[in-house]
Amino acid sequence: MTGRIVAVFGNMVVVEAEGRVVQNAVGYCLRQDGARLLSEVIRVRGGMADLQVFEETRGLRVGDAVEFRDEMLSVTLGPGLLGQIFDGLQNPLPKLAEKTGYFLLAGTYLASLSQDRRWEFTPSAEEGATVQAGDPLGWVPEGIFEHQIMAPFDLEGKWRVASVAAKGEHTIEDEIAALQGEDGRRIAVKMQQRWPVKRPLNVSRRRLLPTEPLVTRVRIIDTMFPVMRGGTYCIPGPFGAGKTVLQQITSRHAEIDIVVLAACGERAGEVVETLRTFPELEDPRTGRSLMERTIIICNTSAMPVAAREASVYTAVTLAEYYRQMGLNVLVLADSTSRWAQAMREVSGRLEEIPGEEAFPAYLESRVAAFYERAGAVELRDGRKGSVTIGGTVSPAGGNFEEPVTQATLKVVGAFHGLSRARSDARRYPAIDPLDSWSKYRGILSPEKVEHVQVLLSRGHEVKQMMTVVGEEGTPIEDFVVMLKAEFFDNCYLQQNAYDPVDGATPAERQRLVFDKILEVVRADFGLADKESARRTMVAAQDLFRNWNYAEWQGEEFKKILGRIEAFIAARGAK
Ligand code: ADP
Ligand code: MG
Repeated sequence: MTGRIVAVFGNMVVVEAEGRVVQNAVGYCLRQDGARLLSEVIRVRGGMADLQVFEETRGLRVGDAVEFRDEMLSVTLGPGLLGQIFDGLQNPLPKLAEKTGYFLLAGTYLASLSQDRRWEFTPSAEEGATVQAGDPLGWVPEGIFEHQIMAPFDLEGKWRVASVAAKGEHTIEDEIAALQGEDGRRIAVKMQQRWPVKRPLNVSRRRLLPTEPLVTRVRIIDTMFPVMRGGTYCIPGPFGAGKTVLQQITSRHAEIDIVVLAACGERAGEVVETLRTFPELEDPRTGRSLMERTIIICNTSAMPVAAREASVYTAVTLAEYYRQMGLNVLVLADSTSRWAQAMREVSGRLEEIPGEEAFPAYLESRVAAFYERAGAVELRDGRKGSVTIGGTVSPAGGNFEEPVTQATLKVVGAFHGLSRARSDARRYPAIDPLDSWSKYRGILSPEKVEHVQVLLSRGHEVKQMMTVVGEEGTPIEDFVVMLKAEFFDNCYLQQNAYDPVDGATPAERQRLVFDKILEVVRADFGLADKESARRTMVAAQDLFRNWNYAEWQGEEFKKILGRIEAFIAARGAK
């Protein structure tokens, strides 16, 4: 079906269509020089359709033709996604750069996956077997994973495997199986398939409540504000507080199979930084490049607004695809504020009635719908997979009372609020232990966690009080509480991201260290004066800090543990 452009403004065009246009369908605006500009129908009004163009609209004119497709904005799914860097429309960025430089030429679309790479296919479905959407037909090795080749996700009903390729090398374009429907219809299956990004991809027996902690190896998260596989969390924080660094730490150390990073940067610099650092990061588990189990979707504000808006959907769709293989996937969106701003721009162009701070009234429902795509599922063959979503929010001035933070807080399961005060004091990660929360159960019993939460808030009160009455005016009991809260903060909540040992603490180690910390916190050291109290807690702090840098269960680790136990037994005496 076709149409004609009747108006162009910004990245929007109004098109008079020659038939029925469907909401969210893809269209191509045909520029007079032959370029075909990808667009999406975002509003239909009678015979008119508003399209947002994922490109510069310069050069488009009233009267130019538009070609509509049956397809919604979709991504290609198949082996070869891992390790790639795409833009929001799944164009492979490094390849594009080779071809056109980093300034993308309008209308240049490249295949997302290599068309001629050969993959060693091993069939797993038998001829004559009955399959449904999402059932595995075979697999190919992709990095450290068995990449399942699955029956198309949009199949309806039961199909018979009419043929399946023998073990051997194939490209994603080859037919690797044929399926026959109950009505006799036959379809060819390739290793690649398409899926519309705005429709959740979930072909499973059932959704599971998230019950398994996602161990990030960041102590303050796992111990105090845990995240679960299949759950959601957000990291709001002012500029420079450490959101991006925290997501990088998580990408590296979280106990998860695959990370999909949606990098939506304010300035090109931020994203370039991610693109530069990521490929150099080493995967602590394999010793190889972290990129082997990472996909990056990347956008800068220089890219057209609609492509920016699409990027988080592209990211989550790729994550859902790997979940269908029974893998645990983490989507990190940095920052969702940029995404929301793209939404605001689009809404403004449509002249919709604005809500708070000119965000569209549907901001909340869009944010909710995005996070709802997280989840743990049980697949039809009993395997389990999960998509966890963590999004940063960068509110102007670090004010959490703004619409994007508020909309996010309503739907996520955990909140890791970064504070300017903590990052200024270089207390990293700068997650505020008094402000943050989690609805999930983590690796420690809630009673233990509660104990330190009380300690931290009492310690904070004493500190506030001390600024008024001074140290002399503070009773020794209160003073000790304050010292113990500081001790816990310094030795446990803070973590040196750049140290190979301290940078990542496995769950077992967190449990042990936490228990020892708790012993110190609960111990009555019989501290009579402030000077000896300070000395004792500094001594404890030195012990635990050194302990954090000692290799898990190594000689040094055991030696320090012995000294810590002696310290506690001797009630702080040396
Ligand atoms: P944001 O994304 O919130 O704007 P970044 O993550 O880019 O902030 O962090 C800004 C700077 O703060 C980093 O370049 C680094 O110098 C410092 N920083 C942030 N987190 C840490 C950390 N965990 N350990 C050490 N330095 C950090
Ligand atoms: Mg950042």
